[in-house]
Amino acid sequence: MKRNRMVLFGIFGAHTVELCPLNNKTSAKIMVQMADKSADATNNRSNYGINRIIGRYHSALEHTFVWIVDAESAHRLEKFLIDIGSAKFNSSKIVPLINFEEVVRKGADELQN
Ligand SMILES: [Zn+2]
Repeated sequence: MKRNRMVLFGIFGAHTVELCPLNNKTSAKIMVQMADKSADATNNRSNYGINRIIGRYHSALEHTFVWIVDAESAHRLEKFLIDIGSAKFNSSKIVPLINFEEVVRKGADELQN
């Protein structure tokens, strides 16, 4: 089944300074494993419903990150974050997102009414 519409989620994560992979060897080890465990796109799709990891951005000083993914469900993303080890030192919010273009279209529709 091929979808032509992306279903976007933002994963907004954070950890403490003490648990930062830059300061903590255990976290650093988990982070390297996270990269390995999330590298297989076929596994991500079949086991977690992740069609594509669009971007993963981190703020070193704020100890926060945002990952943008095209995925099937928040519940499967929750399992993904647990299974790859992220949940061991990061708290995370999983938020449904839409494109700016979609917001503009909805706004333009509103102006017609
Ligand atoms: Zn950090």
